[in-house]
Amino acid sequence: MSWSPPAGWEAVIGLEVHAQLKTDSKLFSSAPRDFGAEPNTRTTEVDLGLPGVLPVLNERAVELAVRAALALGCEVQPISIFARKHYFYPDLPKGYQISQYEQPLALGGGVPIELDGVERRIPLTRIHMEEDAGKSIHDPAVTGGGATHVDLNRAGVGLIEIVSEPELQTPDEAGAYLRSLRSILRHADVSDGDMEKGNFRCDANVSVRRAGDEKLGTRTELKNLNSFRFVEKAIAAEIERQVDLLEDGGAVVQETRAWDDRAGRTTVMRGKEQAADYRYFPEPDLPPLRIEPAWLEEVRKALPELPAQRRRRYVEALGLSEQDARVLVEERDVADFFERVAEHHGNARSAANWVQRSLLEVLGERGCAVAELPFGPGELAALLDLIDAGKLTPASAREIFAELAERGGDPAQIMSARGLEAVSDSGELEALARDVMGASPEQVAQYRAGEKKVFNFLVGQIMKATRGKASPQAVQEVLRRLLDA
Ligand code: ADP
Ligand code: MG
Repeated sequence: MSWSPPAGWEAVIGLEVHAQLKTDSKLFSSAPRDFGAEPNTRTTEVDLGLPGVLPVLNERAVELAVRAALALGCEVQPISIFARKHYFYPDLPKGYQISQYEQPLALGGGVPIELDGVERRIPLTRIHMEEDAGKSIHDPAVTGGGATHVDLNRAGVGLIEIVSEPELQTPDEAGAYLRSLRSILRHADVSDGDMEKGNFRCDANVSVRRAGDEKLGTRTELKNLNSFRFVEKAIAAEIERQVDLLEDGGAVVQETRAWDDRAGRTTVMRGKEQAADYRYFPEPDLPPLRIEPAWLEEVRKALPELPAQRRRRYVEALGLSEQDARVLVEERDVADFFERVAEHHGNARSAANWVQRSLLEVLGERGCAVAELPFGPGELAALLDLIDAGKLTPASAREIFAELAERGGDPAQIMSARGLEAVSDSGELEALARDVMGASPEQVAQYRAGEKKVFNFLVGQIMKATRGKASPQAVQEVLRRLLDA
């Protein structure tokens, strides 16, 4: 996909990503972090905002947030300060959210992206820690209509907010940024990064300006972007809306807008709050967060392998191309799957080919995760072993793969049940070739008279007789031997 802005204009995009930290309990309470539990069963007095309670910072959450900051090349601050951010909403029982404001956990850093072979690093402004809010449920199917329900299971879950500088220019770049960021957070084991479950969420800030202008235009903030595709579509639609508005002599209003996918446009949600509306002040119930250098070093040393290192390993140790390595590493579960196939099967390149062509295709068609497939890396490796052993032609192997993807099973058993084992026995092939030669005396005579073009016709006849179960090379060898005899 390639998108370009309306002629004479350029867009400026900055992204704010909220990623839930993969902790067992919440940021300031012992309530479990549990997606999909019965509403309001994962709450303590702290999450309910009852009077007299005190927050206790979850050390594991700090460790994961620091790990994210290190993985993204940020400068972790020796002291950061929690602050109260006030707003009134039924899913925020305290009336304020504990966040970080003037002194966040980490500054700087960047997210590497690659588009059309060009690599860039999108700089980050900061990463800060904060707690999640609960959920308001307006769906009449749940509430019976006319009411809003509140579920506080999510209230108080630990988040990091990752804020980019306004240096992205196209919807494609925004998509590439999000994919790269998610891959890094998943590799670092910081977050599940699952947009559908709402534990990886993105707000997009968008403005436009005349091409070549230095000054940034007025931005709007887009919310309700529940998938990467929505992010890209919403940004493109918003850029076009702003350009139309300005070309008609209007002005962009700083506001929060939502993406309406059915209508294919953004719609106003509310006027944008300014920092003063939030009445930030330092959280009096929590001391400053101090990160000791020695502890920081420990966290740094324990960082798991990150996508960039993994890519380098695929190229240098496994002999894959840069492009193949990049595609495989984008999704951590795909990369893990690939490595296990390569390990069982031994040939990393054919494992890489099959994972890219077949596995990714099935995942794309179904929109599902690797873990939901009815087969594992062992089965794919067994299929590749059968191909290498000359027992399967490419066409038969694809047929077995389709069956694996549909129902799972043992590739060798599927092969015998469907009678797909390749005819590799040269005696059998020779008999078939003799039959075909006997049935096509004219073509045999033409070939022997020097008209080599009929060779392919004869190969085709033999392939047909084996119903595609012989390797073309084996057929050619046998036929040439018989014809030239
Ligand atoms: P707020 O807290 O009001 O959301 P921030 O300072 O946290 O404001 O910035 C939010 C995001 O908006 C950042 O990612 C930043 O890069 C982006 N941003 C700021 N100004 C613009 C602009 N004129 N156009 C596009 N994005 C912008
Ligand atoms: Mg913001």
